[in-house]
Amino acid sequence: MIHIIYTGGTIGMVQRDDGALEPAGIDDLLTYAPELAQVTAWDYFTLEPPRDSVDLGPDDWLALARHIEAHYHDYDGFVILHGTDTMVYTAAALSFLLEGLRKPVILTGAQLPIGAVRNDARNNLIAAMELASSGHPQVAEVGIYFNDRLLRGNRAVKTSIFAFDAFDSPNFPPLAHVGVSIRYPVIPPLPHRPDRLILHRALTPQVALLKLFPGMSARLLAALIDAPIQGLVLETFGSGNVPATPGLIESIARAIDDRGMLAVAITQQLQGSVRLDAYAAGRRLCDAGVVSGGDMTPYAALVKLMFLLGRQDLSREDRRTLLSRNLRGELTPPAELIPEPRPTSFSGPPDPKS
Ligand code: ASP
Repeated sequence: MIHIIYTGGTIGMVQRDDGALEPAGIDDLLTYAPELAQVTAWDYFTLEPPRDSVDLGPDDWLALARHIEAHYHDYDGFVILHGTDTMVYTAAALSFLLEGLRKPVILTGAQLPIGAVRNDARNNLIAAMELASSGHPQVAEVGIYFNDRLLRGNRAVKTSIFAFDAFDSPNFPPLAHVGVSIRYPVIPPLPHRPDRLILHRALTPQVALLKLFPGMSARLLAALIDAPIQGLVLETFGSGNVPATPGLIESIARAIDDRGMLAVAITQQLQGSVRLDAYAAGRRLCDAGVVSGGDMTPYAALVKLMFLLGRQDLSREDRRTLLSRNLRGELTPPAELIPEPRPTSFSGPPDPKS
């Protein structure tokens, strides 16, 4: 038995008289997929009111996690119908909040509503239900199903507002491919999970995500940090580089030292991992007390900060340690990274005499 949780999003939207899309009720939505009865038994719940996903946030993630925990033993799996715009945040949040999860929690949505003549909603819904009821161990975590692939939720990014193939997981292979049959590629195992489900009940939303850009002023960063925030995700250049702009690193270091701000560095690039020891420009961050976020997506890193800051059982040092540790499969541990070719040492122009 699968429990469908409807939160809104394009998948269930209908057109208003003025042409804009707004969420419809789940009863309407499910009448468009009567075949679901052949896939598995199911029932449903609506997170009221159904919304565009830009209006879902940390309180809703907590409500979803509480709902899943309360009904965990009643179902074989959960399928969450969700708007695509913020799906990756919700997926990452659920992965952290539901520790020890051993059942599928699959988020899906659509680029076109299920009532449209040509749509991706029907396929996404039916395949997500099939995967959730498959009993396969590789789906027993928080995933995002979209356009024939099941991706690890905390590794996913939305890559298109046009294509049906709207999500990708650039640093981790898909959990499953859906074609004529369902294929499960071999993937690295999840880190150790407790045997029972542990629900975490708090998130601290006083965090910020900042993409560095050439010419960014140190005052801008200082104003953001002084907001004040308790956690900062820095989207750095390349493998973890920051410009030497006077005052930039200093204001980060001050917030870390004086008021225990938790800061993590990730890369702006879609693929690859930060290596704060690779260049002098990255070491500055290390020296300031910024933690390496490896190959985490900005979304996973931001939500992980909220999660770790929300845990009252952790010391400041614990939080720093856990931030760079692989907790739910959200980052590749350094030992498993494929080494990048190191720049060969350059000793000047070739000697014309040799
Ligand atoms: N704005 C919509 C949402 O995120 C987009 C979608 O569902 O695709 O709710």
